[in-house]
Amino acid sequence: MERRIKSFLKKRQEEDLLRSLTSSIPLKGGRIRVGGSEYINFSSNDYLGLSLHPEILLAAKKALNFSFGSSASRLMTGSNPLNQALEEKVARFKEKEASLVFNSGYQANLGIISALCSRGTYVFSDKLNHASIVDGVRLSGAKHFRFRHNDANHLEELLKRERGKAKDAFIVTETVFSMDGDIAPLEEIVKLKKEHNAILMVDEAHATGIFGKTGSGIAEEKNLSSEIDIIMGTFGKALGGFGAYVACSREIRDYLINACRSFIYSTALPPAVLASNLKALEIIKKEPERRRTLLKNAGLFRGALKEKGFKTKGSSQIVPVIVGENKKAVSFSEHLKRKGYWTMPVRPPTVPEGEARLRISLTYDHDTGQLEKFIESMADFS
Ligand SMILES: *Cc1c(COP(=O)(O)O)cnc(C)c1O
Repeated sequence: MERRIKSFLKKRQEEDLLRSLTSSIPLKGGRIRVGGSEYINFSSNDYLGLSLHPEILLAAKKALNFSFGSSASRLMTGSNPLNQALEEKVARFKEKEASLVFNSGYQANLGIISALCSRGTYVFSDKLNHASIVDGVRLSGAKHFRFRHNDANHLEELLKRERGKAKDAFIVTETVFSMDGDIAPLEEIVKLKKEHNAILMVDEAHATGIFGKTGSGIAEEKNLSSEIDIIMGTFGKALGGFGAYVACSREIRDYLINACRSFIYSTALPPAVLASNLKALEIIKKEPERRRTLLKNAGLFRGALKEKGFKTKGSSQIVPVIVGENKKAVSFSEHLKRKGYWTMPVRPPTVPEGEARLRISLTYDHDTGQLEKFIESMADFS
């Protein structure tokens, strides 16, 4: 094993793919402190700036009166009443019958998919789906078919060819994709799900708080919540908190409480986290200008990048700038760091070979003046 570890690390180093951790502290105004320096932060998923919202911080402080930790898993004695309050709110927000809180999005995807799917299931999953989805499918033992990214025709082809051989079919996709910032063709996927009698699960990790009339996500925006069986998302991104949820039927919720191992065998979220997540849902409702401003700025930013000749994709607050080679992505990010901007190079295996990129995520705290200056600094790089 030691030899395998050594050779793994050496290989990663040689390929410019070795990652390491840097400690950092998020600051107000979309900034970040790393080491002794401050940067404008373009790599945060705190899209609405809620992680530093005074009302959310206060809600967390008040809930510390309960306790810091939750002391046990939900099925033992860790089910603080805030869980139920949060689940009722999430169910309404997501336009579903019921909801269940999870400790993280990773645990949610891993647990939900492995509890619902089994060896007899055929899973049809977008090729760019998050690692937590891929791992959930693997753990379930289901047969895994990956359709080309956002390609409903390919999904249809696979369903026509394979669906008849399976007991159950399960389709899963992100709605806003985390590394490309583009949006799944949900109308077509819903149509196929019905035609082929499949269960549909969507991951709204990057859409919740941003899209839809009340900020619920892409399912709401496209008026499809009632057609989707399982809607999951996380509190850790636009909601500025921590933890995750699934919104679904009462029956699926009951099943998960009894069968989902990542739910059953893990200590419940602390009350302070639950309380701040609840408050974040209120803020999303009360302050729609946050998401509207963000999406407007993202549209302007993307347009300006294209004008300068950059290769970008998508139509959300996540703006990838594709550079190709791993080394070039790293030196581009270094260049921007010298200019006072924190951007992360994203390399394989997180994205496909030859598509290394900067993943720029915009937040409500970036104003248009900052964005213009940022683009000038990007254009300086050659
Ligand atoms: C971040 C993310 C997750 C995991 O959520 P956490 O709460 O951070 O564990 C799941 N799915 C997608 C698409 C994500 O981007």
